[in-house]
Amino acid sequence: MQEFFFVYFWSKQSLNMSQSIISTSIEYLKGVGPKRAEIIKKELGLFTFEHLLNYYPFRYIDRSKVHLIKDISSTEIHVQLKGKITRVTEAGEKRGKRLIAYLQDESGSIELVWFKGIKWVKPKLIVGKEYTVFGKPSQFSSSFNLVHPEFEEKQTNSTIQASLQPVYSSTEKANSSGLNSKGIAKLTKSLVLQINSQVPETLSHAVTSEMKLMPKERALREIHVPSNAENLKKAIFRLKFEEFFFLQLRLLKQKVIQEQKLRGFIFDTIGESFNTFYKTKLPFELTGAQKRVVKEIRNDMGTGKHMNRLLQGDVGSGKTLVGLLSMLIAKDNGFQSLLMAPTEILATQHYSTIAKYLEGTGVTVSLLTGSSKTSERKIIHEQLLSGELDILIGTHALLEDIVQFKNLGLSIIDEQHRFGVKQRSKLWEKNTIPPHVLVMTATPIPRTLAMTVYGDLDISVIDELPPGRKEISTTHKFDKDRLYVFKFMEKQIAEGRQVYVVYPLIEESEHLDFKDLMDGYESMARRFPLPKYKLSIVHGKMKAADKEYEMQQFAKGHTQIMVATTVIEVGVNVPNATVMVIESANKFGLSQLHQLRGRVGRGSDKSYCILMTDYKLSETARTRIDTMVRSNDGFEIAEEDLKLRGPGDILGTQQSGILDLKIGDLIKDNKLVATARNLASEILIKDPGLELQENYLIRQQLAELIRKKPNWGRIS
Ligand code: ADP
Ligand code: MG
Repeated sequence: MQEFFFVYFWSKQSLNMSQSIISTSIEYLKGVGPKRAEIIKKELGLFTFEHLLNYYPFRYIDRSKVHLIKDISSTEIHVQLKGKITRVTEAGEKRGKRLIAYLQDESGSIELVWFKGIKWVKPKLIVGKEYTVFGKPSQFSSSFNLVHPEFEEKQTNSTIQASLQPVYSSTEKANSSGLNSKGIAKLTKSLVLQINSQVPETLSHAVTSEMKLMPKERALREIHVPSNAENLKKAIFRLKFEEFFFLQLRLLKQKVIQEQKLRGFIFDTIGESFNTFYKTKLPFELTGAQKRVVKEIRNDMGTGKHMNRLLQGDVGSGKTLVGLLSMLIAKDNGFQSLLMAPTEILATQHYSTIAKYLEGTGVTVSLLTGSSKTSERKIIHEQLLSGELDILIGTHALLEDIVQFKNLGLSIIDEQHRFGVKQRSKLWEKNTIPPHVLVMTATPIPRTLAMTVYGDLDISVIDELPPGRKEISTTHKFDKDRLYVFKFMEKQIAEGRQVYVVYPLIEESEHLDFKDLMDGYESMARRFPLPKYKLSIVHGKMKAADKEYEMQQFAKGHTQIMVATTVIEVGVNVPNATVMVIESANKFGLSQLHQLRGRVGRGSDKSYCILMTDYKLSETARTRIDTMVRSNDGFEIAEEDLKLRGPGDILGTQQSGILDLKIGDLIKDNKLVATARNLASEILIKDPGLELQENYLIRQQLAELIRKKPNWGRIS
């Protein structure tokens, strides 16, 4: 009872206060006025005190550190120096005119240079006096100087004594109106000092005390005017947590609403198809991870919930089989399934694997791709409508409106990142009640990011490879090592193994790449001549049927070397291939390299990946290659990839607004994201409508956020 009153009183009070000051229009801030307010609104998008409070610095300059002049190196962003002015002089004429002062400390001397404001600066620089100087070094031939540094006499210690100085982003226009970083800092400082118990708390008492969070107002004060490094850290923590917390809360609420709205087909029978296959056809024991995932899928589909699940598993972890088992469950419950793959080669391969598995089980399966003949299509269309066909495998061709089912119950999408959101939603329209959806991907997105970006998907992970797989040994070789690489290929082929040689395909320069591929093929053919050796070639300019023929030749072991562009990147399965040579490996992205490497190491023989490059490598290319050599772990590689490229780039979701965070970083702060999500989820489980008094503040803030950004990110 007591607590109830306390919370009630507290929240009510803070709400009243919030109406008082932070919603005040920006022109009423001291030092702003109507003219500057215009610029602040237009250029920085800040209309109220609250907006300014939420305009966080993007970094801080540490003013507690004093550098020695001799230690200045080009890498330093800003330096603070203490020393004596030994000489002041003017040089140049008219527009080239400049003021030069020489500052000396115990370690050396440096030039301070002014091109502007000379009249104003000069009288303040007194030879023989001690100064504190702050600025950004620039390199001038072999030495450094500071252009337009801040400076003050050492004793006064007044304006530049703060040890951590915030740096704000600004625009060119704002800059020229005095609203550069420093100008903004002045405003935030004056605002922060004027505020006293007027910023409402946005998190409940339970949350702030569990997470040991600094109160909101104090955090805002510290983020703009840090009292010391430790408090700043706490403030950042508090604001990051809050950002993640409301992000997750919102996602989770959407998910709950969607689950309530969307009821799925109930597949509660595990029947003859599944059991026959499992007992008599399955050529190996499922891995523990596969069993767990199948159970998760059964749980989803068996309960009346609409399944919308992302299945992540490294290349070769056995996702296809999990997909097949799910489709057999659909069949046992009287429903049809489809499996969609991004390329014709992959769809064809899925088809032949699955068709072979299903021989003699009575379950029917067909393949539909862009190159299916009209007569074949007609039969498929009819069999789909009559219900004769249980499983349809194919490419984008499956999305066409003419492809209609009698009773589609499950849609599986392989290698999800190749398909857009639109395509995914098209699959939903193939039945009046949307079919269950299973999305399989070998691009392991770090869990915290996945659960945020695909907030509406449940996630399963196969984190275990089938037994007997050996690590693929990866090396980096330069062009000059080519003879050695050929020798190595020769040895492997002599042992009966097969080799991939892959060339990059970059769309903009398709022509050039094609030439590279052909040159490579020719030199390979010279080195590995007929009749002893047979080569296959596959590239984007070939007809689908020809590609397919070449792939089959290689898969059957009729050819020993497959020269290809990245068309073989996804999914292709030839267990006897043990060597993957990647030409111009520096031109590939990390996840692509990892995918390509996953084409080998699929059988019982030791496998190798050889990354070929020239000597000239950019720094990120070097990091990518090193990462590949060091690690076989798809998740580790994905994290590195995210660091190199950023999440928006990888997921193509920059526009969604979800990744649009003010202070948090979904990758670097992934632990905190998970904590925030767990806490948000606990709260929603106890109080789905956030109706309890103890969650009053949270509900208020959530409503406020929704009001401000109503169309916020649905991407899946
Ligand atoms: P992914 O699609 O996840 O890259 P696949 O489904 O293509 O992997 O499987 C890769 C290979 O591993 C296939 O040859 C498949 O037959 C085999 N495989 C799958 N599961 C198992 C298992 N539990 N034990 C042994 N081999 C397996
Ligand atoms: Mg696969």
